Amino acid sequence: MTKVVLITGAGIGIGAACAKAFAAEGAHVVVTDVLKDEGEATVKAITDAGGSAEFQPLDVTDTAAADALVADIEKRHGGIDTIVANAGIAHRVPIDELTDEKWDHTFDIDLKGMFRVIRPAVPGMCKRGKGAIVCLSSIMGVAYGWDEHVHYSSAKSGVVGLVRGLAVELARSGIRVNGIAPGYIRTAQLLSEEHSLGPKGAETAGDNIPMGRIGEGEDIADVATFLASEKARYITGQVITVDGGLLVGRY
Ligand code: NAP
Repeated sequence: MTKVVLITGAGIGIGAACAKAFAAEGAHVVVTDVLKDEGEATVKAITDAGGSAEFQPLDVTDTAAADALVADIEKRHGGIDTIVANAGIAHRVPIDELTDEKWDHTFDIDLKGMFRVIRPAVPGMCKRGKGAIVCLSSIMGVAYGWDEHVHYSSAKSGVVGLVRGLAVELARSGIRVNGIAPGYIRTAQLLSEEHSLGPKGAETAGDNIPMGRIGEGEDIADVATFLASEKARYITGQVITVDGGLLVGRY
């Protein structure tokens, strides 16, 4: 049976790399994003390579849309095997400018946005007695502090709690829930001068990473496909750091 994989924020970056990796393994990938053109481009890259995918617009702050999309996928495809809750934003905001609205906006996407997509899919996964959920946290959520990004760090730490709680609640239903904490990965998010390292910072960041380079989306995607696979059948509730040795480095 073809596996059905739902990925949020899959038009670009880590989400797009995950979509391509799952499709390469023979899954049907439901590529979702707020970015329509980019989402459709991800689907085209997959289908051009002989894979199976469809684009569905989804803003993860919209509960009704998440509920409707999950119901629609289940109706058309018979169920969802894997969710990669990936969509996220990381805006630089110093604490004296961090309004309630800015804090809430980040949490609404980076933490509640994951919950919104997972919640409607859980009953179907429970009924079928199987499912795998992979949530994107960050090294900023599991170990590092990130100045002018405390809302982001807090939300990404929240993802660890989401993973642990759900893993325990759903384990006996045959559903595994894990996370990935990426280090520095070459995507639009990281290359943003305004909000993150920017292109120059990305160039030199490798000097401080034991493996000597920043990561690529594919470095994360391969871990996502592993965590969702039978090979990870006894792993649940874990958030795996994928950072080229950054956190254990001595620099
Ligand atoms: P990215 O390149 O910015 O891609 C994220 C995607 O999610 C974009 O298409 C983005 O659209 C979309 N998105 C934003 N808000 C959304 C919403 N409300 N609903 C649906 N989609 C939305 O980011 P990335 O670097 O691939 O990151 C993917 C995940 O990994 C994120 O959760 C991020 O925090 C995490 N992560 C990344 C790194 C890194 O170094 N890159 C490190 C640790 C963790 P817009 O472009 O319009 O915002």
